[in-house]
Amino acid sequence: MPTNVLTVDYLIIGAGATGMAFADVLVSESGSTMAIVDRNDAPGGHWTISYPFVRLHGPSNFYGVNSRPMPSDEGKGNLASRNEILDYYDRLMREVFLASGRVTYLPKHQVDETGPGHPATARAHSLVTGETTEIVVRKRVVDASYMNITVPAMGRSAFDVEDGATLIPINRLAELDRSPERFTVIGAGKTGIDACLWLLGRGIDPDRLTWIVPRDAWLINRDLEWQAGDIQPLLDLQACRSAGEVIGSLEEKRVIIRRDPDVEPSAFRCATVDTGELAQLRRIKNVVRLGRVLAVGATSVTLDEGTIPTTPETVHIDCTADGLTQKPLRPVFEDGAITLQPLLPCLLPPSAAIAARVECMDGDDEWRNDLCTPVLNPGASRDLLSFYSIRMERMARWSRSPDLFEWLVRSRFVTAIAGLERMGEPEAQGAAALLASHLEELLKTDGA
Ligand SMILES: Cc1cc2nc3c(=O)[nH]c(=O)nc-3n(C[C@H](O)[C@H](O)[C@H](O)COP(=O)(O)OP(=O)(O)OC[C@H]3O[C@@H](n4cnc5c(N)ncnc54)[C@H](O)[C@@H]3O)c2cc1C
Repeated sequence: MPTNVLTVDYLIIGAGATGMAFADVLVSESGSTMAIVDRNDAPGGHWTISYPFVRLHGPSNFYGVNSRPMPSDEGKGNLASRNEILDYYDRLMREVFLASGRVTYLPKHQVDETGPGHPATARAHSLVTGETTEIVVRKRVVDASYMNITVPAMGRSAFDVEDGATLIPINRLAELDRSPERFTVIGAGKTGIDACLWLLGRGIDPDRLTWIVPRDAWLINRDLEWQAGDIQPLLDLQACRSAGEVIGSLEEKRVIIRRDPDVEPSAFRCATVDTGELAQLRRIKNVVRLGRVLAVGATSVTLDEGTIPTTPETVHIDCTADGLTQKPLRPVFEDGAITLQPLLPCLLPPSAAIAARVECMDGDDEWRNDLCTPVLNPGASRDLLSFYSIRMERMARWSRSPDLFEWLVRSRFVTAIAGLERMGEPEAQGAAALLASHLEELLKTDGA
């Protein structure tokens, strides 16, 4: 097979939301050249294969890239649809990145290896022709695929499916051409919620629906997220004396909500609903809490803690996915490499844009890593404390770097970082730092 050779300043592996947000800042704010390589045929990462009715669940202005608003930025409750998201990234690639003359885009290419050295050499091959491209990288290899997100359409079900059972990925729900006897939704994250809301929205009687909920999770109340600039409800957490009190206070202020008033959630995965959606979800009464599914059979579903009956005519919908992975943390900036990870829990695109901005600023990697310490995405309900403490700590930290702070305040993502604009005031900065250390202290001392 012939080998092509390409020389660039940066190689960006992955044209998902993370890679696009990083590239956007480099294109707008540096004169660098770059290659963006992705296995998929279009930019947008998992959105290219997600179910047709998926939408952002957080506000659109927390998402996308810095240089360009998303089509639904201004509309309250107007969450960008999959088509809007894909169109946004497609246009960005064509109208901004490729038009700059500094970006080489290799769709349907897989990066197989990246070597060390200055310049480093990486190898990618076309998934269509098999041709290899050798990429000489003068500055850094940027891994925008490290978080390794999975969606059901990737077909990686974590359980067995026995003969006679009907299991479909959520993607096939919209393709149904007959009405089955019953539906069983497997999974209670954002994807499971979407499946339930879609079925209810299409008029299914909740009695024909079973929802397998491995763990109840706290949900972010989208009604309040639009008022993100108001951090007073968070600053009030300074008075709390235990992790439980913090969670109770957040619930009392309706910052977080639970699906079932009688069940204490043990998880928190940043899934977001509004109160109308919550009311819909509460119509589902057949909620199964027996842990994770191990096997789906024709007449029974086996779970960690028991079995439930089912029928061959029941359509089971696989909504198990990891859209918010917890990968081992590593430095974002290393010699010749950048590994993009969340700098704010759950907020990958703003995190990637911030890392790119810091890359464009003068300083060494120790200084860059100090501004860009990666964090884990949340998993358990206690992670609500770190979710808010990290936000406070980051605001205080970033406001001490005047160049970065000024950029952030002018950036499109300013509303995603609640209260950031107030961080120019020393009292607000002090209050944020104090709350961050208070919440961290509670996490250390309160094992509950
Ligand atoms: C259904 C769903 C809805 C979500 N909604 C929201 C939301 O509303 N708000 C929010 O903030 N977050 C949301 N998330 C979280 C989401 O994970 C991130 O927002 C973001 O889209 C992740 O993008 P990414 O670029 O990191 O990963 P991906 O979208 O997975 O992109 C990674 C890309 O890297 C490519 N790649 C990987 N390895 C290689 C290789 N070796 N060679 C070439 N290419 C490679 C892949 O093909 C892929 O295109 C959602 C997640 C899911 C699953």
